[in-house]
Amino acid sequence: MRAAIWVTGLISLGLAGGVRADSGFGLASVPPAAQSFRVGSLELTALHDAQFVVPNDGKVFGVGAGVAAVQDVLRAAGAPTDRITLSVNVLLVRTGGRILLLDTGLGPNLHGGLLESLRVAGVAPGAVTDVLITHPHMDHIGGLLDAGGQLAFPHATIRMASAAWTWLKGQAPPKLVGVIAGHVQTFEPGARVAPGVTAIALPGHTPGHVGYQIVSGHSRLLDIGDVAHSSVVSLAKPEWAVSFDSDASLAKATRAKTLGALAKDHELVFAPHFPFPGVGHIVAEGDAFAWQAGIP
Ligand SMILES: [Zn+2]
Repeated sequence: MRAAIWVTGLISLGLAGGVRADSGFGLASVPPAAQSFRVGSLELTALHDAQFVVPNDGKVFGVGAGVAAVQDVLRAAGAPTDRITLSVNVLLVRTGGRILLLDTGLGPNLHGGLLESLRVAGVAPGAVTDVLITHPHMDHIGGLLDAGGQLAFPHATIRMASAAWTWLKGQAPPKLVGVIAGHVQTFEPGARVAPGVTAIALPGHTPGHVGYQIVSGHSRLLDIGDVAHSSVVSLAKPEWAVSFDSDASLAKATRAKTLGALAKDHELVFAPHFPFPGVGHIVAEGDAFAWQAGIP
């Protein structure tokens, strides 16, 4: 049963190409953690949900480049060369009397610990007013439901791009769609979705994939969603295809353009899959990029 849930979950992450229970993919729980920081006058908190491990087998990262080339990149960063470890992070934003969650992690049935991390932050699930979804892969929407399959945030409006909702309805388990449907409100990219928060089109990873830009005074932060997955591989080789992306060439173009702009503007970044808390800056390094972790 557990293996079935595990594999189903991974397939829902967009890893359908040849996932087997013995393929080396792994989801792991993490200790609850919450780290707060400020963007202008707003209080933001990074919440740790889980981590997953992707084997370096040439099927996910560096598709077409080969295992040895990926090993070289990992080795240069001092990372293990047989696997790529990704964190799952969620962002909590308090703004204008509202309490926002940006994505919801894997959910308690796939080792997601968001609810425990939220407790560390001192926020009750019933106090969350809005859940903003970057895109409807299971590692971002799994936490919409609690362990019993009910709404984890019963008073929250669930907001996502209209193209993402259309896509989700054709992909996700009907039970999930049924539970959330009455609480979903869609928007078009570019919309202001909460005080100081704008949805930014970042096309290619999935239909309707967006980031969220948070602005307060002269300070701002961009939640990049899944523009980049690995703080090592995705930044050193942004031109490499990643099997998670539904439109590889559009995703590559978005990745290059977004990383270039973030490095040029020295804009603060929240990355759902970079090492917890996933907050820092993208810096240019030759004709590629590197991650400078750090909460301001
Ligand atoms: Zn993801």
